[in-house]
Amino acid sequence: MPQRNNLTAYDFNNALCIDRPIRKACDCVSASALFVHHKQAMNYRFHDQHPFHPIRWELTMDLLNDLQALSTDRKLASRPATEEELLWIHQPAYVESVKRLSSAAPEPHWISEGEPYGLLDEDTPYFPGMHEAASWIVGGSITAVEAVLSGASPHALHLGGGLHHALPAKAAGFCIYNDAAIAIDYARRHYGARVLYVDTDVHHGDGVQWSFYSDPDVCTYSIHETGKYLFPGTGHLPERGEHQGYGACMNLPLQPYTEDASWLECFEESIRRLTKYFQPDLILSLHGCDAHALDPLSHMHCSMEIYRQMPAILHELAHTYCEGRWVALGGGGYDFWRVVPRAWSLLWLEMSSHPLANALQTDARHPLPQAWIDTWQPHTPQSLPSEWLDDAQRWESIPRRDEITAKNRETLAVAMQDYP
Ligand SMILES: [Zn+2]
Ligand SMILES: [Zn+2]
Repeated sequence: MPQRNNLTAYDFNNALCIDRPIRKACDCVSASALFVHHKQAMNYRFHDQHPFHPIRWELTMDLLNDLQALSTDRKLASRPATEEELLWIHQPAYVESVKRLSSAAPEPHWISEGEPYGLLDEDTPYFPGMHEAASWIVGGSITAVEAVLSGASPHALHLGGGLHHALPAKAAGFCIYNDAAIAIDYARRHYGARVLYVDTDVHHGDGVQWSFYSDPDVCTYSIHETGKYLFPGTGHLPERGEHQGYGACMNLPLQPYTEDASWLECFEESIRRLTKYFQPDLILSLHGCDAHALDPLSHMHCSMEIYRQMPAILHELAHTYCEGRWVALGGGGYDFWRVVPRAWSLLWLEMSSHPLANALQTDARHPLPQAWIDTWQPHTPQSLPSEWLDDAQRWESIPRRDEITAKNRETLAVAMQDYP
């Protein structure tokens, strides 16, 4: 690992591109987080059978409302991204294609041109209003970054965000515009902040990684199921950044059927080491919850416990290294009913220092609000969970547990080997 001066403790006064100083965020007290949302972002909807469905947000917000954990003064309305902001990451011809295919009846010429941009793919099929809806999602993530870096709040959550697979000139993996990458670029351009991007979605955060692969001031971290078996097929150990950005990229490709203990061991050791090494000004994390055993699109075997503990670790790191500055986004998660609402609510409870986040440390059988279950059970044939956490002890055990744990430990050792 080459030694680089700019990876020592960060000097705000010498930061590049600063046009406003970073202000110290207030100390974390109860309800000190903002919840960024706009109903326009709910129009990001390919079609009814598509796994990336806005009902995921509705179910989560309803659960938080039933818990009275989402007061009006904590909600922050977002704005759409400007075209200029989209063009920080995306190529003009791609944005033009997205716009043209957003009309109610696109011209055949634009449809025939859409294939290389991924807009005819079954994962990212074009739909009316796509450009506008995706722009609102990007704007929400920018709004969250602005709220935190301006000092309005130490933490901000934008569950609409998390489109980490979008590439400069291609839609991929349900993602049109890469809100995470654009929001990071916003933090760089407007505040000169060093950003640590933490991606805990089960799929590798490829679009964000490649956007900053040679940038020493943006460190991308992704813990995911190995790309040997899962989309997008990247995120291998040797991907560590290039040129000046070498070392500012870490990947933890874990084995299929990884369970809580091994996932948490790999996550906690590596993210603590990397955060200490990189000394970020801002942590921007992406919270796809598709590493859960019930998720239909991956092969991991984790329970809700990782979605309780992981945000608490990030919360602590944000206060230790970033004066609390922490922006969190949504992402994947395709068991709408049983996994996503609980996992994303747990994230908000942690960010907003809700008493229930503490209580769940010792009360593993805490019930979900009955009103939420009563409202939504009639809408699904699946039996809704009755408790916040899973009783994973009762799950069928994974036959290769020791082998999987040992292989993940080897991966962890290699990922961390050059970091002091
Ligand atoms: Zn806090
Ligand atoms: Zn995912």
